[in-house]
Amino acid sequence: LESHLHKAIERDELVLHYQPKVDVRGAKMVGVEALMRWRRNGVLVPPGDFIPMAEHTALIGPLTRHVLSTALAQVRTWIDAGRPLPIAINLSARNLHDEDFASQVAGLLAAHDVPADLLVLEVTESALTIDPERAQQMLKRLSALGVRISIDDFGAGYTSLGQLTKLPVSELKIDRSFVMTMAEDPGNAMIVQSVIDLGHNLGMTLVAEGVETEQSLTTLAGLTCDVAQGYHICRPIPADAFDVWCAERTLTVPRPARPSEASSSITAEASDGDLAR
Ligand code: C2E
Ligand code: MG
Ligand code: MG
Repeated sequence: LESHLHKAIERDELVLHYQPKVDVRGAKMVGVEALMRWRRNGVLVPPGDFIPMAEHTALIGPLTRHVLSTALAQVRTWIDAGRPLPIAINLSARNLHDEDFASQVAGLLAAHDVPADLLVLEVTESALTIDPERAQQMLKRLSALGVRISIDDFGAGYTSLGQLTKLPVSELKIDRSFVMTMAEDPGNAMIVQSVIDLGHNLGMTLVAEGVETEQSLTTLAGLTCDVAQGYHICRPIPADAFDVWCAERTLTVPRPARPSEASSSITAEASDGDLAR
């Protein structure tokens, strides 16, 4: 699998799908998360089937660089089209332990001419628990570049709360296991509420993952969550389908990437009831 995956990078078989992150209260697109798939013999292999293996080898380095480069090229295309969307990519623990990683990120941002604040790097709690000192140093270096840091799957791992206050984190993503069950499980609803309050008290933006129903979206708005991501809004889709999805909705892009690039508004009739907001 390792050697096949190596060839997959060279053959350009690793593709990114994009899933929007939207303001819980409606009409604003806050960003997009890039999620990797492997187009292997005509079948799309999900990341869970090959990333854990790659994470145990040095392959995760070139793999992450490939994702970063592809994602930044896509952002450049969106900026040129008047839609400067922040993009999030997922990191692995090994990336945080690679001494060169921050300079690689800086190099790729420059190569694609993308402002650093349009890049969000998502790290899971577990990535922070392996050698926390080193991870913390790397996050500080990345943050100093102007890149934003997000903690993914929050609540499912073991971040110490003390560590959370020391990290340059601007966003917390509440693990989807809590969000998807909060309607029927009062305990999980309480966890969602508490994480939102905790994150807000630390000055962070709160993102709920796994938003699969309108009811969930309404509950999250009531709990003052900031951003929603999930199948109810849109599944992860290829870039061309994502552009169509945007064109079919009235969504405002947050802010211009450069002073000269005016904030754009994408206006058109929504084609279905999913996010006709
Ligand atoms: P993640 O970063 O937490 O990404 C969210 C996952 O939840 C994605 O699964 C997405 O398709 C799925 N999802 C989104 N909305 C919903 C929903 O409403 N309901 C449900 N049930 N699921 C939803 P995916 O694409 O299979 O990715 C799984 C994980 O693989 C990601 O979790 C991330 O940890 C990892 N991953 C994906 N791409 C990359 C990558 O480029 N690099 C690294 N290192 N990891 C990646
Ligand atoms: Mg993620
Ligand atoms: Mg997640």
